[in-house]
Amino acid sequence: MGFKNSYLQGVYDTVQRRNPGEPEFLQAVREVLESFEPVLEKRPQLADTGIIDRIVEPERFVTFRVSWVDDSGKVQVNRGYRVQFNSAIGPYKGGLRLHPSVNSSVIKFLGFEQVFKNSLTGLPMGGAKGGSDFDPKGKSDGEIMRFCQSFMTELYRHIGPDTDVPAGDIGVGAREIGYLFGQYKRITNSFVGVLTGKGLTYGGSLARTEATGFGLCYFTKEMLAVMKQDSLAGKTVVISGSGNVAIYACQKATEMGAKVVAMSDSNGYIHDPDGIQLKVVKEIKEVRRGRIKEYVDAVPTASYTEGCRGIWGIPCDVALPCATQNELDGADADKLIANGVIAVAEGANMPSTPEAIAKFRQAGVLFGPAKAANAGGVATSGLEMCQNSMRYSWTFAEVDEKLRDIMVGIFHSAYNASQEFGDAGNLVLGANVAGFLKVADAMKWQGVAY
Ligand code: NDP
Repeated sequence: MGFKNSYLQGVYDTVQRRNPGEPEFLQAVREVLESFEPVLEKRPQLADTGIIDRIVEPERFVTFRVSWVDDSGKVQVNRGYRVQFNSAIGPYKGGLRLHPSVNSSVIKFLGFEQVFKNSLTGLPMGGAKGGSDFDPKGKSDGEIMRFCQSFMTELYRHIGPDTDVPAGDIGVGAREIGYLFGQYKRITNSFVGVLTGKGLTYGGSLARTEATGFGLCYFTKEMLAVMKQDSLAGKTVVISGSGNVAIYACQKATEMGAKVVAMSDSNGYIHDPDGIQLKVVKEIKEVRRGRIKEYVDAVPTASYTEGCRGIWGIPCDVALPCATQNELDGADADKLIANGVIAVAEGANMPSTPEAIAKFRQAGVLFGPAKAANAGGVATSGLEMCQNSMRYSWTFAEVDEKLRDIMVGIFHSAYNASQEFGDAGNLVLGANVAGFLKVADAMKWQGVAY
C-alpha cells in the first residue's frame, strides 16, 4: 500500500532504490514513515527541512573481514558490521549481534530502530548496531575468544566512550563483552566505558543483565494499568525465546503474579501448565548453554514440541515475543486472538510482522512495540555509561528504580504522542513519533553539513 503523503512516498522510494534486497530494513523504515503521516499533516514544514530524508540514511556503515583460527587450526572468515545510524542526540549506541542470519539488512533495520528507541529513553544516546554472521553455537570458549578479539581488532578504530558504545544482543552476553573489552583495552591502552554489559568487576552495572526483561514487564504493567485498568497478576503468559530477554521477562512476570507457561529456542518450545521453573531454564541456558528441550528431563510433567512457531498456539492472556525478528506472523496473531490474548509486548526487536500488528489492533489487543517495550536494556546501558563516567556504582535497587521510572516514562511518552497525533492507544505510532521528534529537533539545531 502506498503512502497518502507524496513526500513520504518519495522518501520511501529512495530508500527502496538505495537498499535493494534488504527486506528487514525496508519493513522497519516503512513502519516508521507510516507513523509520520499524521505528523506531516500537522507540521507540513517538516518536509522542507530534509530531516526525514536524512534520518533514513545511516551516517556511516562499515563492513569488515573477521578472520580467526578455529580449534583445528583452520582459518575461518566472517563478515563484521557496524552501522552508525544517527548521532544527533548523543554518541552512537547499540548492540552487537552474532548469528548466522546477520546481514546488512538486519543490521540496518536494528540500527534504524535503535535511533528512536534510544531517544525514547530520555538519555543522550544516538543509534547504532553491529555484529557478524559468525555462529557462536557449538564453538569452544577459545574459538569465541579468538573471534571476539579479531572482531575488535577492526572495530576499535570506529568506537570510543564518546563516539560509539556497543553492547550485547543475540549471541553476545557477558562472556563475549569481556573478550571484546579486553581486546579494546589491549590495543588502545585505555580503560574506558567503551562497551556496556560489562562484568561487575570491571565497570558493569548491576541490573544490566536483567534490564531488558524486567523493563518489558514494567512497560507491560503500565500499559495494562492505564489502558485496561488491569495488571499482570493472575495472567497466563507465553514467552518466546529463552535467552537473556526471555529469562528475565519470565522472572519479573512471575514476581508480578503472572504464570509463565511456555518458552522456546530456535528448535522448539516447552509447555509447562504448572508454571515454568525458571531455575531449571537458567541452569540449562546460562550455565550449560544447552537446549530448551532439556527442561522436560528435569520437569517430566512439562512437554516439549519440536518447531518454535507452535508456541503461539498455546492459550494465554499476555504474549511476550522475546526471540527474534518476524517470529510472530498474521496466522500466529489469529491463534493468539482466538485464544483470548489481551496484550502483546515485544521483548525482541520487530518480532511481529506488520500483518500481525494490524490484526492485534483490529482485535483491540494492547500492543507494546519493541522500540518502547524493550528499551530497558539500552536505558540501563545508558546508566552504565553514566556510572563509568562518574567512576561510581549504584546499587541494584537504585538502578532498578531508575529503570522502572524510565519504562513508565516511555509508556506515557508513546501514549501521549498517540493521543496528540489522533490515534489514541496506537503505541506503534506513539513510540515512533515521540522518539522521532526529539531527534528531529536536535538535527534541526545542528544544521546540515554542505
Ligand atoms: P540471546 O542470544 O540471549 O537469546 C536469543 C533467544 O532467541 C534464544 O532463545 C534463541 O534460541 C532465540 N532465537 C534466536 N534466533 C532465533 C530464530 N531465528 N528463531 C527462533 N528463535 C531464535 O538474545 P537476547 O535475549 O539478548 O535477544 C533476544 C531479542 O531481544 C533480540 O531480538 C534482541 O535484538 C532483542 N533485544 C535484546 C536486548 C538485550 O539487552 N539483550 C535489548 C533489546 C532488545 P537459540 O538458542 O536456539 O538460537
